[in-house]
Amino acid sequence: MRPSFLSVTLVMAVVTMVPSTFAEMSKKQQKQYPPKDELPDVNSAIVKKWVAEIDWSKVPKLPLAKAKYPDCPDCPSSKKLIPKDACWWTCDGCVAKDDIEVCPRAKAWGLTYDDGPSEETPRLLKKLKQANVTSTFFVVGSRVLEYPETLLQEVKDGHHIGLHTWSHAGMTSLTNEQIVAEVKWAEKIVFDVTGLRTKYWRPPYGDVDNRVREILRQLGYVTVIWTKEWDSNDWQIPDKTITNKEVFRNFKWALSTVPKLKGGVITLEHDLFTQTVNVAGPLLDMGMKKGLEPMDIAQCVNDPNPYQNSLDKKPAAKAPAAKAPVVGVKNVGTEQTPLVKPKEVTPVVDENIPSEGSEEGVVTEAKAKAASANKLALTATSVVLVAVSAFFSL
Ligand SMILES: [Zn+2]
Repeated sequence: MRPSFLSVTLVMAVVTMVPSTFAEMSKKQQKQYPPKDELPDVNSAIVKKWVAEIDWSKVPKLPLAKAKYPDCPDCPSSKKLIPKDACWWTCDGCVAKDDIEVCPRAKAWGLTYDDGPSEETPRLLKKLKQANVTSTFFVVGSRVLEYPETLLQEVKDGHHIGLHTWSHAGMTSLTNEQIVAEVKWAEKIVFDVTGLRTKYWRPPYGDVDNRVREILRQLGYVTVIWTKEWDSNDWQIPDKTITNKEVFRNFKWALSTVPKLKGGVITLEHDLFTQTVNVAGPLLDMGMKKGLEPMDIAQCVNDPNPYQNSLDKKPAAKAPAAKAPVVGVKNVGTEQTPLVKPKEVTPVVDENIPSEGSEEGVVTEAKAKAASANKLALTATSVVLVAVSAFFSL
């Protein structure tokens, strides 16, 4: 069994009768958070305080992309219309030096699930536990408000948590203040529930440019996108614009390229819908069968401090010298490598493609987002993560 990096470096204590900050809050206090799936108010005192902590002289002045909130902006008709200093990944495939787009080590598979937690997530957690695999969950603040217990379970199971903003907005179309509010409110609720201050984030739709990046850098974040051609496109299944079989065929094709890759890969999957979780298990099995080694993003980049408050703890006396976090890993392509859209990937037909998951229990996004009010009432028993190096105990 491959030990989880987090399980080696962190000791988790399940403390009964010691509720997390979130669980201690009354319903009234929990209403401090912005309305679900809405842009937070940028005129609130707390957002103004967060905004005041940024050195705005370092943030590039780029034009705001046009988009209808919360969508990802449509890319300009010509790349010439994109400012040269924008490095807008969604529209020109530009990768900044400190973006993480691949795992540096060959066969390493950065396993990531976005948009949760949801009522579907526990089923995925069960599968990951069976496979003895940890992943990174890029969580949406609004979903954490609905399913705080599921977020705690992710941490308890040794998974790595990253941010995916408060309302899943396309970031390049937001004002500077809105970007800060989207990130910090999501950070706050994850902290209130788990005690962890997140360090990695993934822009919704991969929508990031140099203005967004610099704001996030100053907030302490590392930007994680995904490896071109390794978007599972599972998110299209609920829209019925792609079938399970096509997802498996495209993944099979991507797997066929592994022997030619210099490094590892980072995949994009989602734990918001029944259909996306249905394909997650078969995709995991397919990749492992082909020799990929699934892991969370902290493991992928060999970061011994996967949270901003990892370093708050007392240094371990017996801890071996930690390798410096590997960030700024570029794809094997060039910085300007264009994205390959799903339709451009040549599917490979394979008779051994896993059977499709059940199409029953179709969940609409609205349903997935529907709050389960009683879930907000956490039980008195809560999980507290004690981020102490395992070496402490030696
Ligand atoms: Zn997303």
